[in-house]
Amino acid sequence: MLTEDQAALLLEQSDVVAIPTETVYGLAARIDRPEAIEKIFRIKERPSFDPLIVHVSSIEQAKLYANEWTEIHQKLASQFWPGPLTLVVSKNDKVSTVITSGLDSVGLRYPQHLLTLSLINKIGVPLAAPSANKFGKTSPTTAQHVKESLPEVEILDGGDCKVGIESTIVSIQNGSSVKVQLLRPGMIQWTQIKEALSGFQVEFIDSNKKIMAPGNLEDHYMPELPLVLVETQVAKSELKFKIKEIYKKEFNNFVELILSKEAVIAARELYAQLRKLSQSQSDAIYFQVEEYMKNEDWLPIMDRITKASTFKI
Ligand code: AMP
Ligand code: MG
Repeated sequence: MLTEDQAALLLEQSDVVAIPTETVYGLAARIDRPEAIEKIFRIKERPSFDPLIVHVSSIEQAKLYANEWTEIHQKLASQFWPGPLTLVVSKNDKVSTVITSGLDSVGLRYPQHLLTLSLINKIGVPLAAPSANKFGKTSPTTAQHVKESLPEVEILDGGDCKVGIESTIVSIQNGSSVKVQLLRPGMIQWTQIKEALSGFQVEFIDSNKKIMAPGNLEDHYMPELPLVLVETQVAKSELKFKIKEIYKKEFNNFVELILSKEAVIAARELYAQLRKLSQSQSDAIYFQVEEYMKNEDWLPIMDRITKASTFKI
């Protein structure tokens, strides 16, 4: 485990470091260290088409990398930052296209974790950071998770992540009309974004399941054991027959993923539970969908669970 000074030194030397944020742990590199950026993709086995989010420690710093910063940018940033919201904005040439996978936009976020903010302040340069796990697998929400996923990486330990799932991503596109689009749901809700911008001339583009942000694939956040999403009313004793019927595969021992009813707490529990249950002596994990999970506050959690699942019944 690193001290802040040690983390700063490693980053200075073009190395990568795992950092805490309120969403999940990130695998960070200074945006002005191209070798370190490439190392992120290598360590994570992340495809180069999947852009990285750039983490800043103030709104002022974010503005240094944006091609334009309108009242709309300012409104969302001032209302939701520091916090679990990423703004995809038109970038300037201070941000390398290796970070943005060739796009002329960049995802910017001002996270809410004092250790990481202090680290970015000390360095004076933003940190590009995706989640600190292998591509497509369950994201880490504790330093221990990072150690299990990426044993070779040094960690700045900031305790357990308070939000527990990745940020809401919203893009702002300026043209003849301004378009604001939800690219990934997160704990800051789309309704909150729309409310915040209610006084502005904006065209809102609601996302459907099929969009959208590069890298936001159908299969993601996958635990080590297969996850079965149970959307119909099935007795537990019936599960194994159902699965066998559909998938012609013998699954005998199941373990249930149980989350708190309150979305804010469920989000915090989700990844740790998926990791823990994956270590049990079972063939699969199952998760029973309930009516209250159709509410907006559960949307980002259901998004992750759906993508993490391999079977649906
Ligand atoms: P994470 O999964 O937290 O590493 O967040 C990275 C995700 O942010 C990517 O998979 C993209 O979906 C999204 N993203 C980052 N930068 C951009 C961008 N410039 N345009 C669209 N989506 C982006
Ligand atoms: Mg990730």
